[in-house]
Amino acid sequence: MSFLKRAFRDAVSQGVRKGIGDAIGKAVQQTVEPRVTQYANETAQRIDKAADNAARQAAESTAGLEGAFANLGRSVQNYADLVSRDLKVCPQCGQPASADTKFCPGCGGKLPEQTLGQGAVCPACGKQNSVGMKYCADCGTMLPAAAAEAQALESRNAQVMQQWEQMLPQYPKWNCGGRELYIDDYDSYICFRASFSGNDQAARQAVEQYRQLLQQNGFRPAGEYPTVEQLYKRIDGVVYRVDTEHCFDGDSDCPSIGFDRSEPRGGFDYVKPEPRKKTSLKDLFRF
Ligand SMILES: [Zn+2]
Ligand SMILES: [Zn+2]
Repeated sequence: MSFLKRAFRDAVSQGVRKGIGDAIGKAVQQTVEPRVTQYANETAQRIDKAADNAARQAAESTAGLEGAFANLGRSVQNYADLVSRDLKVCPQCGQPASADTKFCPGCGGKLPEQTLGQGAVCPACGKQNSVGMKYCADCGTMLPAAAAEAQALESRNAQVMQQWEQMLPQYPKWNCGGRELYIDDYDSYICFRASFSGNDQAARQAVEQYRQLLQQNGFRPAGEYPTVEQLYKRIDGVVYRVDTEHCFDGDSDCPSIGFDRSEPRGGFDYVKPEPRKKTSLKDLFRF
């Protein structure tokens, strides 16, 4: 094989691997990475062979480049679909396992009943869709894998809100949306995040809404430098603070809200001192 052909084949191979990631998602991408499962090597070999074929086609005909790529794309999709029929993926850690496995070999978590391929069979019309699709290509029904994922997400969110009740009882509950919710407990600081998946406008509106909710619940600006980004409330002598000032540091559609008990600078009920009156010489010598 000439240098040119080999270089082309490598480029195609790389493109294919990237294409797999884009087209059919992380789960199947893992199967084309060698060493992961028995399917991985077989699939990688098939894809290499397909890439070889594509290179040959492209080299032999002048009009073949586009066609060769299209063929290659189809082959890859077919191999991935084939592999997905015998493959489960752990919803907790993402490790692939064979169809007869009940518990994840990586983390011990319970694996789904269905393989990836079965999860892409339409419950309404029976079409076998490609793995990674959310809705049936023929009739638009939500596919089982996507439905299961949505349900898992919902129950994880519900868990976060349950943690909220225990960890943040003094603060009004977040009810301002977000696709995926997180709660993290640092030593003296609890951090709550709500992902808005690429919609920073919605994220900003949600934070604004939450500030209003806080103020309706008696939280208010306090201290020497009062601001609505830092809201405080005193309950039984203890100050509770919500920090939304650094909400979008690093992530514009996933606001990060901090909760803690730090006192506002200058005290909760800080009163600005009256400016001192200027004293003139005349005042000093007045009788
Ligand atoms: Zn696992
Ligand atoms: Zn369908």
